[in-house]
Order: sequence, then C-alpha cells, then structure tokens
Amino acid sequence: MQENLLQITALHKTYSNGAQALSGVDLELKNGMFGLLGPNGAGKSTLMRIIATLQRADSGRACFNGIDIADQPMAVRKALGYLPQEFGVYPRVSAQRLLDYIAVLKGVTNKKERKEQIDYLLDQTNLYAYRKQAVSTFSGGMRQRFGIAQALLGQPRLIIVDEPTAGLDPQERYRFLNLLSEIGEHIIVILSTHIVEDVQELCTQMAIMANGRIVQQGSPRKLCEALKGKLWQKQVSKSELRAFQEQLPILSQRLQAGRLQVRVLSDTAPGHGFVAVEPDLESLYFSAVDV
Ligand code: ADP
Repeated sequence: MQENLLQITALHKTYSNGAQALSGVDLELKNGMFGLLGPNGAGKSTLMRIIATLQRADSGRACFNGIDIADQPMAVRKALGYLPQEFGVYPRVSAQRLLDYIAVLKGVTNKKERKEQIDYLLDQTNLYAYRKQAVSTFSGGMRQRFGIAQALLGQPRLIIVDEPTAGLDPQERYRFLNLLSEIGEHIIVILSTHIVEDVQELCTQMAIMANGRIVQQGSPRKLCEALKGKLWQKQVSKSELRAFQEQLPILSQRLQAGRLQVRVLSDTAPGHGFVAVEPDLESLYFSAVDV
C-alpha cells in the first residue's frame, strides 16, 4: 500500500470583496478518512478548492506527495477525485458517456479498463439502470451519486468531498459513506461537512475550522476526551432555561421528545440538578466553534 501525504502550510486567502476565508491554515494528512467540520462560512470550501487546484491561495503552500499543488496542478489533478458542493451545469449526454469522457481526462487510456471502472462505479452508486439517461434529467439524489462516481474514477489517491450527504436520503447516505470508508483505508479522503454524525461515524482524524482557522485537530476520540468531566446535562422547561441562561455557561440546547435538554460546559459541577455526561463530538464541535 502506498502512503500518501498532503501538507498544508500557512495558507491565506482573502477574496476581493474583503472576505478573509483562510487566515493561516496548517494541516498534515496521511491515508485515511479525514473529517473537516465547520459552520457555514468557516472557509472549508475555499480550502477544498485550493487543494483541488481550482483556486489559488494568496500565500502559503499545499503539497501532495511532495508536489506543489499551485506549481503543478495537472500532475495533482490526475491523482485527485473531487466532488464539489454543486456542479454548475449538467450536460445533456448520458451518464455513461460523460464518465467515459472524464476517465479519459483522468488518464485512463485503456478502453477495457475504463469500461470496467465505469460499470463498477455505476453499480456502486446505484445508477447502472440509468446509465443511458442524460445527466441533465437526473434528480438531485441521482446527480449527487453521479458526482460520487466521477470523483472515484481513475483510482484517485486523494479524494475531496464537499458536503457530500446533503442531497441524499438515509439509505443513499449510508451506502455512500460505506463506499467512502472502504476506499478511505488506502488513500486520503477529506470529508468537508457541517454534519457532525458524518464525521463521528467515519473519520479517524478530524479538524474543526472556524473563521478561516483550524481550531481543533486530532482523532475524534482524543478530542472528546479533553471534555471529560466538564460536560453537564439537565432536562429543563423553557422558563427554567431562561433563568439558567443568566447563571450558567450553556453550551447547547436541543429538543428531545418534547423536552429541552441543556448542556453546560464547566470545570466544576454546576449544581441545580445537572449531571455529568460523556463527551460527544457534537458537544466538542459546539465548544470549539462557539455557536
Ligand atoms: P464554508 O465552505 O466553510 O461555508 P467558504 O470557503 O465558502 O466557507 O467561505 C469562507 C468565507 O469566504 C465566507 O465569508 C464567504 O462569504 C467568503 N467567500 C467564499 N467564496 C467567495 C467568493 N467567491 N467571493 C467572495 N467571498 C467568498
């Protein structure tokens, strides 16, 4: 098995309207599933587009297996599978033909090999029956699955998926995440998302991004451990919540079976009937992004 390495050093990017999307991002990724979590506007897509060679940073470096991504984009593209948040235009050619075309672009020149890969991916993404249909006629979920198929063509060594499960129903989501995790054992897969469960279920390593910076990085389990003994929970009524909000550092509140479940992050027991709970990724996420 080949070990792959993506090294990102001091990446900065400010858009012409003044929006500071990346303010010094450092990351080092090896084989495996890497989850990049962050709220909307954190800078995830900008970072993904820079790694996918579609955009340039103002300063800093991104290298894949020693190749500078900005200097040699073509070399990186051959090893890359990219599933963007949205494709602009959906062409009026069949899924099968479009995949064939993309495979050629990715350097799969052997026709038999192309057919094998395409048939396998059409099957894996549940699109085989629709292979002769134009991609422009596909539903949202089918387009998403087509996006997955094209990203996996050419046996990439680095896969970037940006908000991949957004348009999928639960069954499709499960199938897609399974496929990704199978592939992710041997290559680098970056899963950029604001959905905590996607990362929790799949990723061995992760980072949390907020305001253009990496605010936490490590294995989900290790990162959660840091909250051990500091997380407290209680079910409260709406009126109680108002009172607690004034007194306690409330981390999150969510409705569960019609009752409000409130969590507090505190080094010491907050009293008032709050009990200690095991840390989970969602609490870690809330504590890191301060939402
Ligand atoms: P995320 O993917 O985490 O939602 P983005 O990278 O899309 O984050 O956005 C980071 C910041 O950069 C946001 O403030 C966003 O408004 C801004 N931004 C993103 N793309 C552009 C663009 N093409 N032009 C101007 N500002 C942009």
